[in-house]
Amino acid sequence: MKHCLRIASCLCCVVLCCFVLTLTVFAQDSTERAAEGIAAKVIRPDELRAHIRFLADSLLQGRAPGTPGYDIAARYVATELEGMGLRPGVSGGWFQSVALENAVTDAAASSLVLTINGKEQKLGDAKDYVLSTWFASPAPKSETRAESDVSAPMVFVGFGVTAPDQHYDDYAGVDVHGKIVVRIYGAPSSFPSTERAYYSDNIVKAKNAVAHGAVGLIDIMLPEDWKRYPWDWLVPQIQVGEMRWLGKDGVPHDFFPAVRGTALLSQQGAETLFAGAPKTLDQVFDTARAGKPQAFALPASAHIHTVASQKVIQSSNIIAELKGSDPALRDQYVVYTAHVDHLGICPAVDGDNVCHGALDNASGTSAVLEIARAYASLPTPPRRSVLFVFVTGEEMGLLGSDYFAHFPTVPLKSIVANVNIDGAPGSYFPMKDVVALGAEHSSLADEVESAAKVMGYDVSPDPMPEEVGFIRSDQYSFVLQGVPAVDVEDGVKSTDPKINGFDVIKKWLVTRYHTPLDNMDQPIDFDSMAKGTVMDFLVGYQVAQHSGVPEWNKGDFFGTTFGPRHAGVPAGE
Ligand SMILES: [Zn+2]
Repeated sequence: MKHCLRIASCLCCVVLCCFVLTLTVFAQDSTERAAEGIAAKVIRPDELRAHIRFLADSLLQGRAPGTPGYDIAARYVATELEGMGLRPGVSGGWFQSVALENAVTDAAASSLVLTINGKEQKLGDAKDYVLSTWFASPAPKSETRAESDVSAPMVFVGFGVTAPDQHYDDYAGVDVHGKIVVRIYGAPSSFPSTERAYYSDNIVKAKNAVAHGAVGLIDIMLPEDWKRYPWDWLVPQIQVGEMRWLGKDGVPHDFFPAVRGTALLSQQGAETLFAGAPKTLDQVFDTARAGKPQAFALPASAHIHTVASQKVIQSSNIIAELKGSDPALRDQYVVYTAHVDHLGICPAVDGDNVCHGALDNASGTSAVLEIARAYASLPTPPRRSVLFVFVTGEEMGLLGSDYFAHFPTVPLKSIVANVNIDGAPGSYFPMKDVVALGAEHSSLADEVESAAKVMGYDVSPDPMPEEVGFIRSDQYSFVLQGVPAVDVEDGVKSTDPKINGFDVIKKWLVTRYHTPLDNMDQPIDFDSMAKGTVMDFLVGYQVAQHSGVPEWNKGDFFGTTFGPRHAGVPAGE
């Protein structure tokens, strides 16, 4: 309809055009209905459960990139895809290799010492602070230890956010050249949630600090954030180390060598640091909550010494392709993604130290596998082509998807949309609604809306905007390259009136998320999951089938910031 009105300058054109459009809409509706019927038959609860049971098995040791467990999972995915009759998506093969540099801090050999008002204060590792790691660049050929050292005065810079579009700059009026900046985790809650999510991104904040000349980063957290991310839960996840994908030149992507030390302080560590500061911690937290920029020099300096062991590991994305049926559109692609990796070995719960990742994201992997099977079962493929991209390294920072988005196997320009599944929707209870993370930024909202209508789902707004889910899974890698993307997630309503969906999901996040308890023994509703998976099938199918391509909303923050990249124009950030 949009296209019709845009070109119409006379009434007859409008009438003719709309008449033709009406016919195609009817034709598409019946094709869509038929496709949905096939998907609903093909996508079976038993099949989903079987995939998840295999992928979440202890044998696979939590599917960490660079381990045999991940490689077995990747081989399993490729084997399934081959059996469906799909084409391998990487010049005749299934695997896109992704080289990752893995670095783990040697806490015993590293240290953080504060000098406050001339008095030295050594802080306790894992009690007062935890250090991020350090990457050799280019990556070492064999396992090595690399050291980094920085000693500098400290400047507190609020959230450490510079957001011209929000008329907000924490760095205004302070000089942090050669300084270690102390920042509060996140971004002002006074920002609209999208902008808040973007500006709270670690990479964005690190780039900003580097642009201002900082040589070290120390982060503290608001008390309300410590409630969501308790210290004891967070520390082990930082201690396992970090990974970056490597470019062809062996240089780790999104690592900033100018920053020679990075630490997170516990609440106790932050109190020590602010003991002699011109403002108390409570005062700076209040200013942060009020969304006001702030910065001042601290009467203190820090010495951060980081020793890290480093090695390069090889992992892979797994990619399959279904050629579209319309010669005019088959060079355009809808890309489904799901991450195969998980956290590997974790702190034990009840004697089990495997992070099985049954829902996160064996379920999404299984969902995309069954969606691929549904596509392969259609009598006629959709008009556009479809890529099924199973990615590595999501848990380590969206690495596999970011690598794919930088080195896509088809031209970036030809990718019209990404549908990501991180947690197959519907897993927790009989689901009555869906949440479409990111849909509000583009015309993908229309596709979600109409697919939801077919499936009998309501579409609910994101119930936990503070979790900034949109930038926390693989769809964001596509957004950063200007591709409209959506992640259809669990809703909060159940068809069973006795179930409070919001409570169920909240409880899952604090009891099972990223622990060995995300396993096959938890209650999982496979019937509801199968239906939620059909919903995701339909969203992508409509995009592959409709004449128009998804577009960013006019004036949308992501569309304006990154859209030009999609068209091949380098974008500023
Ligand atoms: Zn996940």
